[in-house]
Amino acid sequence: MKQFMNFINGEFVASGKTFENRAPTDNSLIGLVHEAGAAEVDAAVKAARAALRGDWGRMSAAKRTEMLHAVADGINRRFDDFLQAEMADTGKPLSLASHIDIPRGAANFKVFADLVHNVPTESFRMTTPDGGTAVSYGVRSPLGVIAVVCPWNLPLLLMTWKVGPALACGNTVVVKPSEETPATATLLGEVMKAVGVPDGVYNVVHGFGPDSAGEYLTRHPGVSGITFTGETRTGEVIMTAAARGVRPVSFELGGKNAGIVFADANFEQAVAGIARSSFENCGQVCLGTERVYVQRPIFERFVQALKARAEALVIGPSTQPGVGLGPLISAEHQRKVLSYYERARAEGATVVTGGGVPEMPAALAAGHWVQPTIWTGLPETAAVVREEVFGPCCHVAPFDTVDEVIALANDTDYGLCTTVWTQDVSVANRCGQEIDVGLCWINSWFLRDLRTAFGGAKASGIGREGGVHSLEFYSELRNVMVKL
Ligand code: NAD
Repeated sequence: MKQFMNFINGEFVASGKTFENRAPTDNSLIGLVHEAGAAEVDAAVKAARAALRGDWGRMSAAKRTEMLHAVADGINRRFDDFLQAEMADTGKPLSLASHIDIPRGAANFKVFADLVHNVPTESFRMTTPDGGTAVSYGVRSPLGVIAVVCPWNLPLLLMTWKVGPALACGNTVVVKPSEETPATATLLGEVMKAVGVPDGVYNVVHGFGPDSAGEYLTRHPGVSGITFTGETRTGEVIMTAAARGVRPVSFELGGKNAGIVFADANFEQAVAGIARSSFENCGQVCLGTERVYVQRPIFERFVQALKARAEALVIGPSTQPGVGLGPLISAEHQRKVLSYYERARAEGATVVTGGGVPEMPAALAAGHWVQPTIWTGLPETAAVVREEVFGPCCHVAPFDTVDEVIALANDTDYGLCTTVWTQDVSVANRCGQEIDVGLCWINSWFLRDLRTAFGGAKASGIGREGGVHSLEFYSELRNVMVKL
């Protein structure tokens, strides 16, 4: 039986308490996960704190960069192990995991290691009251021990997106992967060890949120800052924990993102783009589109074309050729998504396609499958138009004017992203400037340049990461003033 152990101070550590890790594809047992209790979390935080004062803390920036490149190379050397682990835990298609999750997971170490060298700090010269001169300059030092609390939808990618810049800035980390996806964070411990990252720099504690590793970690006074990706509700709880000791937080939270298609858009590209943003990773992407607004002249045609795309998706396990839609992560999440499918029907939706569970072969019948689903005809007050479902579904509504659609897009507590499809530069830029989100994609979606700011407005997050913005969270900027 495979065991997923905690990784503390360079060693794999068992705990007296385990829970099952099951495959979303067929509910088969993948292995047992060792849940960290308060003692294991305390040991991990203490190891991380000690490492700040050890070889890691004394290491030159050049050597640290070299080591982070070695981590990326180490992931790529074991690409297939990471791929298999991620596919087993999430059930996502091979095409997705092999093109996005694993390569971007490795790239996060290289990009941020290189970036740190190229960001200048400020310097000012001034005349002092006695007629002399003083020079100020900025120095960045690590924040300390960073708690990295992760979700299950893009496990390696979203974890390394935090661990990469945190380590590049000289911090140490304690990672709490999602209880649903413990594998790749554990595997990364083996890579860290193999390439010689000093003990205590990268630690992993497994478990759940409340009364478990998540709560123990975020409440631990030895943690200097918390970076969290997950639900807005969980963010509220973690923010309360962070208040003690006034620790900084960086939050990437939920969304209810609008996709907007104007009548002048390149029709085929817009349909393909919205299909991707609604159904990729079985709709389990924070950036996903669950509200689609289509300008009236092309509304009917668009709905039919999107329906054809949804119905053409091959539903199946990761390695089945041509598969485009895997299962949802868990039975609990399947129940939640299906309850929204039911509510949409009860609130009077026209179900354009989907709305239930697909018929699967007997060997996969215990998996957490749902059909890609499109609704029309709901008011803006309907639950599936207002609340994040996090499944492969969207509601499509018509609109007439730019003013109207900007108001519709903004009528939500969330503000993560939007995807806008038009050939009109002025309209595109109005949307880019007037929709209250952290990320606005024009004629594209989920296109990333790691030098740019990433994060959400309103209830979708606090702070920005990516490029220099990551440095701002993961380091303390000190001003040194020298009277000459
Ligand atoms: P979640 O909030 O349920 O869990 C995320 C992590 O927090 C898990 O590791 C969990 O164990 C831990 N946790 C839960 N309660 C905790 C507590 N009280 N204290 C400390 N830790 C706790 O989220 P999820 O279901 O894993 O992920 C899906 C959510 O994440 C969606 O809302 C999605 O929009 C969001 N998300 C956002 C982004 C983004 O970049 N904005 C990216 C991916 C996912």
